[in-house]
Formats: sequence, structure tokens, C-alpha cells
Amino acid sequence: MPAQANIFLCLKDNFGVLVHDPATGATAAIDAPEAPPIEAALKETGWRLTDILVTHHHADHTQGIGALKERHKCRVVAPRNEAKRIAHVDETVGEDDLVRVGSLESQVIDTPGHTAGHISYFFPADKVAFVGDTLFSIGCGRILEGDPQTMWNSLLKLRGLPDETRFYCGHEYTDANIRFARTIEPDNKALAARAEDVARLIADRKFTIPTTIGAEKKANPFLRADDPEMAKSLGLAGSPAWKVFAEIRERKNRF
Ligand code: ZN
Ligand code: FE
Repeated sequence: MPAQANIFLCLKDNFGVLVHDPATGATAAIDAPEAPPIEAALKETGWRLTDILVTHHHADHTQGIGALKERHKCRVVAPRNEAKRIAHVDETVGEDDLVRVGSLESQVIDTPGHTAGHISYFFPADKVAFVGDTLFSIGCGRILEGDPQTMWNSLLKLRGLPDETRFYCGHEYTDANIRFARTIEPDNKALAARAEDVARLIADRKFTIPTTIGAEKKANPFLRADDPEMAKSLGLAGSPAWKVFAEIRERKNRF
């Protein structure tokens, strides 16, 4: 039976997501930005929290863990390479480890760069991925604990997932990301189309995610850093892709 997902806002612009296995009733929260909206989503869906799958150690992804664990006695799975910086962890995981949520299976992908131990969770049967603050819709996370090459390699791993893969990221940043992306690729038609879609979603008070890896490849400038046209337009013809990526990231930091 396919996984079900429920998405809602936490804090200011963090996404909370519940992933539910209808076969067993198991339910995982992807990160725990804060407990109350997650409790509200559990109540609304009638789902029982069995697991928390953590992507990285930042407080806006972990500060709800304690209260949720106390109440639901759920298992807390966290990235091995930064588990010391996260409280209440039961199980640590890294690249290629398998994490089960009831009968659902996810593969762990190491995606360092935003933080040094950041991980993503990919559910191959459902083709759905939870990528935390590594890849955003039309953007990517800030490089806080790594270098541009590390972050670029992480993005390449996510870009390598099947095109149909729907992904959920840690923040609702799409609108601002599109405004920036259009300064990088003003003539990108896929990006223009996406801008229209997103404007409609926002007008309807809907979330702009999930989106797909295939759609991002066409419209997200950060995933397009190895396109020779991109290098040329930034005055970096012949530079390695990670340097082009670093330039786009720098421009975004200043935007
Ligand atoms: Zn973060
Ligand atoms: Fe965050």
C-alpha cells in the first residue's frame, strides 16, 4: 500500500511532514521543528506517531523531539555524523542504511554541506524523498558546515534520483527562490512556467511542495550548474561545475 503524507507549517516557514504506512499504522514525523503543530496533525489524521526521522541537528528541525518522544515513546532516528548534537536519539544512520517506518522502507543518503552530517531519506517504492535543508524548491540550503564542492556533490546525489521522485524540503522558500532564480536564468521557460504555478498556489493559500526532481532539473539554477550555458552566462566558461555552483550560491547569499 502506498505511503500517505501530511504536510503543514511549523514555526515561521518550516515544513512539518508526517509519513504514514496504512498497512501497519506506523507514522513518522520528518524532523520535529516544534511539537504542537505535529500533535495537531496527528489528531487531525488519527495517526499514531511511531518514529521521528531527523535530517540534521539545527534547532528548527529538532527542538520538538523531546516533547513528542515523552508523549508517544517514538523511536528517534538521526544522522550518525552529528547525532551527538541531537538529544533523545535512539538509532543513528548513514549512507545506504535502511530505515523502516512500519512496512515502508527508506534509504539514507548522506547529503552533507548545509551541516556536516546532514542526511536525506528516500522511499524507493513510493518515489518520495525528504531532503531537509539540502535541496529546496528552486533553491538549496546555505552552506554552513561544508564547502561548495561538498554541497554540489550532495545535490548531484539528489538530482540522480528518478525524475518522478516527489521531494519534501525543510522550508517554504519557493517564492523568494524563484525571484532569485530569475536573475540567474531570465530566459528559462520552465522556470517562468513554475513561477506562474507557484503564484497560483500561493494565491490559493496552498503549499508549493512537494515538487519533483525532474521539474527541478529544468528550473532550479543550483541543479543546473554543470550546464555549459550557465557557466558561460556567469562568465565562468570552462570552470568546473562546483565553481559555477559556488558562484550561484554566493549571489544568492547577497541577494
Ligand atoms: Zn537547517
Ligand atoms: Fe532549517
